[in-house]
Amino acid sequence: MSRALVLNATYEPLCVVPSRRAAVLVLGHKADILHDTGDALHSEHLTLAVPSVIRLRHFVKVPYRRRAPLNRRGVFARDDHCCQYCGHAAESIDHVVPRSRGGEHTWENVVAACRPCNVRKRDRLLHETTMVLRRHPDAPREMTWVVVAVGTVPQHWQPYLHPATLSA
Ligand SMILES: [Zn+2]
Repeated sequence: MSRALVLNATYEPLCVVPSRRAAVLVLGHKADILHDTGDALHSEHLTLAVPSVIRLRHFVKVPYRRRAPLNRRGVFARDDHCCQYCGHAAESIDHVVPRSRGGEHTWENVVAACRPCNVRKRDRLLHETTMVLRRHPDAPREMTWVVVAVGTVPQHWQPYLHPATLSA
């Protein structure tokens, strides 16, 4: 299913929605299509380009700077699908400070890990092992929620996600 990037009236990226949901906003005159996928949606009475990027006609106030919710897919995206202990392909996530030792389920305490490293570390603290983190886990950059939502960001979304490149 295709998805659409929703921009605020100010061009600030807001969220990612199914293209059909974006089409409803366009048909309801709540948003305009900035980019379409080249495909068309057909209904009984009309044909509409499938939206890929839309911009809301009215400004929506966003109350706080968005922090991407922690989830498995997001952790893999942040860590490039690499085990943060050995660099091999990650297939699980590991709590650096184990849950059983009071570790929190937060971006700063969760890393992508391969199964052998996960098994090897067990419920030990890092300093009780010979294992070393390749980099310190952090909350991801602001736009990671987009990556989390779609997996791979379409090329033509890039300028909207990184406005600085528009002027280049
Ligand atoms: Zn590993």
